[in-house]
Amino acid sequence: MSERGRAGPWFWVRVGLVAFVLAWILGPGELRDSVPILLVFLVALGLEVHFLVSALREGPPRRPDRGPQEVDRDRYGFEREPEGLVLADGEDGGGVWHAVSSTEEGEEVEEVDEELEPEPRSSLAPLRRFAVGLGVIAALVAVIWVVQRTTGWDSLAGETRAKAVARFSAEASRIAEKSVEIRCDEARDYVGAVQHVDGVAVVGGRLAILTPEICDDLYRLAFEDEARGSRTGRALAVLAHEAWHLRGVRDEGATECYALQSGVELGQRLGLSADTARQLMRQQLTENALRGVGSLEYRIPSECRDRGRFDLDLGDTRFP
Ligand SMILES: [Zn+2]
Repeated sequence: MSERGRAGPWFWVRVGLVAFVLAWILGPGELRDSVPILLVFLVALGLEVHFLVSALREGPPRRPDRGPQEVDRDRYGFEREPEGLVLADGEDGGGVWHAVSSTEEGEEVEEVDEELEPEPRSSLAPLRRFAVGLGVIAALVAVIWVVQRTTGWDSLAGETRAKAVARFSAEASRIAEKSVEIRCDEARDYVGAVQHVDGVAVVGGRLAILTPEICDDLYRLAFEDEARGSRTGRALAVLAHEAWHLRGVRDEGATECYALQSGVELGQRLGLSADTARQLMRQQLTENALRGVGSLEYRIPSECRDRGRFDLDLGDTRFP
């Protein structure tokens, strides 16, 4: 905000951003579905960068007095305070305030020749302002993250969740080639299990637990016909991954490689087209390769490819 109380454009951008994000969270689902919130944040970030660059280019303060100067008053004959100030684009890319006074002839616009930007007291002011802008954006991203993590699965009716869990268990049982159970809960430690960020399973066991977020994404796909891009791909991969652990595979790389192959059919069974399911699993394969850098244990083995050691269908040249 302005150091002297007058709000600059960055202030209104921030107010607008906060208002929009609140509307996005609390408003109708159509808004959430049609406007990718990441894009909104990118635009806001772009504007903040624009303000910063403009402010830095403008340089140090040139005129400390912000009101119309005496010389202006004499020249333009302001005998009273103008009724309003209107912002117009200045020639040098900055803004210029125009004073609006109504007269008998109608509205009269006088150029006050006042700089739009409140002059920073030091050259650090634009940077400080930029940091505040980034802080606002970061805080809003955090709010959205928290909201998305606390709604969703837990907001579904118990009956609906039971139905969904039964479906997930049936699908996992197909992959595990035996009857297994899927639960949706905060994954907590339990004895003898392989623990992941998104799920837990006992190798060769009968029970796997998925996080509510993964379950929600699977539920949206299977029951609401709602695909959420790579999130949906991730959810499919996690369900298949834990199912392969239940089937008895311990090695993480092999488990993930099998999971991404099973995920293509799993995705189709839950409502995706064959092309989309395959594309999502390929995307998971790529992302996994990137994530795997630094954690050898989870790196997908090089044999995870068409005709490689972990190829489940040697007759099929598509992979996964
Ligand atoms: Zn695993």
